[in-house]
Amino acid sequence: MTDLRRRTKIVATLGPASDPPLVLDALLRAGVNVVRLNFSHGDPSEQIARATAVRESAARLGLEVGILVDLPGPKIRIGTFAEGRVELHAGDRFDLIARADAPPGDATEVAVSYLGLPNDVGSGDVLLLDDGLVQLRVMSVEGDRIITTILNEGVLSDRKGLNKQGGGLSLGALTPRDHELIAVAVEMRADFIAVSFCRNADDMNEARRLIQQNGGFAAVVAKIERAEATSNLAEIVDASDVVMVARGDLGVEIGDAELPGIQKRIIREALAQNKVVITATQMLQSMVESPIATRAEVLDVANAVIDGTDAVMLSAETAAGDYPVLAVETMARICLGAERQFGAEIDFGKAPRNLEYVDQAIAMATMFLSQHIGVSAIVAMTESGSTARFLSRFRTGTLIYAFCRYDYVRRQMLLMRDVFPIDYQQKGQTARQAARDSIRQLADAGFLKSGDRVTFTSGESMDMHGATNTLRLLQVGPDGWAQGLGDL
Ligand code: PGA
Ligand code: MN
Repeated sequence: MTDLRRRTKIVATLGPASDPPLVLDALLRAGVNVVRLNFSHGDPSEQIARATAVRESAARLGLEVGILVDLPGPKIRIGTFAEGRVELHAGDRFDLIARADAPPGDATEVAVSYLGLPNDVGSGDVLLLDDGLVQLRVMSVEGDRIITTILNEGVLSDRKGLNKQGGGLSLGALTPRDHELIAVAVEMRADFIAVSFCRNADDMNEARRLIQQNGGFAAVVAKIERAEATSNLAEIVDASDVVMVARGDLGVEIGDAELPGIQKRIIREALAQNKVVITATQMLQSMVESPIATRAEVLDVANAVIDGTDAVMLSAETAAGDYPVLAVETMARICLGAERQFGAEIDFGKAPRNLEYVDQAIAMATMFLSQHIGVSAIVAMTESGSTARFLSRFRTGTLIYAFCRYDYVRRQMLLMRDVFPIDYQQKGQTARQAARDSIRQLADAGFLKSGDRVTFTSGESMDMHGATNTLRLLQVGPDGWAQGLGDL
């Protein structure tokens, strides 16, 4: 039974396609661990209604589901067109007007939302509209007017996004609107809050400060989608709890050829710093319209799993697609297959030796023993989730049951690969009692059977954060109670 559990986690974006209650229930049943509410779309009241619907559905189904709020950030957009859309021709002149009262656009000019853009671009720069479908080369800047030449044929419609090739826009990551939405997200009790277009550690620190000022607990997610962010990767990861490989905007800014290497670098850096990582965008894009993923998409999801990602994400596939539930089922199946065929065997000769924390040291010893004596599961008593996080960074594939009494900590652990959070009131118990009770609970639930070996980690007493200092080797007895291990 335990072999069949998917260990890579799934994040699904909610939207009109997932709103019918039967669809939402089916998505959660198909294995969505965390839902993403994309605050770039819809007004806050719509997203608050979605959060409520998710909580109701999860409670009804007896599942735990995390909520990730994705802030819009400083996404630059063009304004609207008098006709709604225009056709552009290569070689023609096209102006961008950075003025709040610019008139509706036409085939020669359109407004742009970022009024500082003229200061951030110069002759020769390439601007990419609508995810790169239309490319403009800057010829000159005259006051609030950016004069460009169109590089390719294309159609442009209202409010499409704009990126600068190679990055270099001076915009801060948190707009006044993001400040307001952080308060909404905290009020909503979001488990994760994602910062779009972060540039550096300062952006992440500011987001964390704003969340705390509002009284929130949410984990902070850095979306790596700007060229600058890839240069400041180590400090951003250090300042965040979770990082997202946000391949949509990132690919536009740095070019598709750089993308595979960066994806692997971001995942490696996250794991090296004991942080959690999500791989996102267009993973099963064709399933927006088709019930069957392309082979390339199958390989993309599987390769992200093999790269070591904690979670894979669906965007339009579940928010606006024709096959939201099938997309989750497809993703779950591909993850399981990849996990089964590429089981990790850790080379402990290469394991890190710069251990900073006692719980990290216990996690390392636990993983070494779990792999070498062969255990069916690891049971971790955790208050802050950090023991589970350290354990899961090794990616050994051994299931980690994280027993925890705080619901918000359990929901944050839902994103961690290999980790299965379990609601457990360990307060006041001795380590010995907690070991007996938790293993008994897993045996009763059918997750462990008589004879299974288990590594068990805990603190001395059950109510201190970061106090894990003990590792026990146990075995499930014929009666389901934990007993000491005889011979190895
Ligand atoms: P978005 O972010 O879906 O909010 O644009 C993800 C990405 O850019 O990949
Ligand atoms: Mn993006």
